[in-house]
Amino acid sequence: MRVRHAVPLFVLCMGCSLVSAPILVTKTPVPSTASAAPGEPVTPASATLAAGTPAPPTPDVDWTTEADQAQALLEAFADDAASLPDATRYWIEASVTFDPAFTRAVIEGRGRMRFTNPLDRPLDEIAFMLWPNNEQYAAEMQAGPVVVGGLLVVPEAQREGVGLRVPLARPLAPGEVIDLTIPFRVVTTEPVRLSSPKRFGIAQGMLMAPTFYPLIPRLTPSGEWQVAAAPPGGDTTNSDVAFYDVYLTVPEELVLAATGLEIGRTPGTSGTVTVHHASGPVRDFAFALGSFVPAEAVAGEVVARAWVLPEHAAEAESLARTAARALQAYEDWIGPYPYDELDVIDAPGAFGGIEYPGLILIGVVGDRADDDVVIHEVAHQWFYALIGSDQLLEPWLDEGAASYLETLYYESTGDVRTATRLLDEDRLILRSVGRTETPIGLPVGEYASENDYAVFVYLKGALFFDALRNRLGEDGFRGFLQAYFAEHRYGFATAEAFQTMAEATCQCDLTGLFDLWVFEGGPLPIP
Ligand SMILES: [Zn+2]
Repeated sequence: MRVRHAVPLFVLCMGCSLVSAPILVTKTPVPSTASAAPGEPVTPASATLAAGTPAPPTPDVDWTTEADQAQALLEAFADDAASLPDATRYWIEASVTFDPAFTRAVIEGRGRMRFTNPLDRPLDEIAFMLWPNNEQYAAEMQAGPVVVGGLLVVPEAQREGVGLRVPLARPLAPGEVIDLTIPFRVVTTEPVRLSSPKRFGIAQGMLMAPTFYPLIPRLTPSGEWQVAAAPPGGDTTNSDVAFYDVYLTVPEELVLAATGLEIGRTPGTSGTVTVHHASGPVRDFAFALGSFVPAEAVAGEVVARAWVLPEHAAEAESLARTAARALQAYEDWIGPYPYDELDVIDAPGAFGGIEYPGLILIGVVGDRADDDVVIHEVAHQWFYALIGSDQLLEPWLDEGAASYLETLYYESTGDVRTATRLLDEDRLILRSVGRTETPIGLPVGEYASENDYAVFVYLKGALFFDALRNRLGEDGFRGFLQAYFAEHRYGFATAEAFQTMAEATCQCDLTGLFDLWVFEGGPLPIP
């Protein structure tokens, strides 16, 4: 997520006022008994069955579609698709419909997931997150019941409908695979406006729809589901890398952009088309629909595609070019972007911008600073998407990094003046806010305000990366970025792992530096 420049610094997240959390319905549909072909409309029956009732069969899914998953990756990385055999597999089919005035969207479908217990001990429950019920999403979501191993289980709603707990009749042994099917329905609520930013909903004739399905959250090595509530102003999801096959049935007159690669499309009835996307290894799936004007630019073999609303048509080429330049810059600094595509979406009101794997939402297209938002969100393809980290508990790992990568971008394009100016602005703002001793390593919710979160995690976070660079030296810093990426690509890093890698790079003890900036805080030598 990006807040700086796009929104006046001290008026962050103006629209994050609380909306009442929707209640998860208890009368839930049962998955269809039919083995519907991908793209067939989902018509769940409306019966309600008791937990433990024998359930109808789940949809037929061919899980051996590694070839499709490999297609979403560049040829040099195609083998990555087969290198993560225990990653969760999602098969999702959903239809997207709108009212005639395009003020309301309904996404209705079902997902079948194959999950492997990665722990060395049994698991007695599976968690889902229904993120559209969070206040940052202009939507309400219902899901369930869940078919687990052929039995119907009524899940338990938690956290005001954002969490869903599925108890298992029998514990899942280490390494054992479980198969779950869950129907879901998402309805958009109020329109997204620049004055009330959201990450999901209808804005100026387009639909932005990230994490529109029940998401299996991250399972920490200690065996806890990461189901923490997301405070306003920060990012929401925490999830491990998975593979998605998503079949979206949409009005054929609209342009669909989504995470991953379009594998095929099938004309449907009543002016619809069903589009199949395969994601490759990613930790979330997002799509957008609208009457978009496209433009594209390339960075090596990767295609950056901008999709803008007609009123912003003049911006399309520039957005695509900036995204391609950013991809190139970060590949040079950190390591290769392994996917075929990156979509850049004109999504008015998506805060400054928001990152998803292979797809970034730009909330301020047409503003003077929209280029800076693009280079920030592209940076998240490395820090968040490829290198996972806890966006709620250790947000500096991705936001501090993405903020500093803006500086690296300008250095790589030869614009040293802007690179320097960005850090000067950070210092200026930090000094003006005071309390510079505040550490960057707090969870989102432990900062006193959204503004503090932005100042310390983003701006002071960027300055920490600069301090680390000074400590490691030019070659050391570049080597660190590349080694950290190589170690944690498709994985999940922590602040501790970050420090360990930095110390391995310099063969030195960085405890003092990390304690001062990240963990404990203290008076800083900021000029
Ligand atoms: Zn960000």
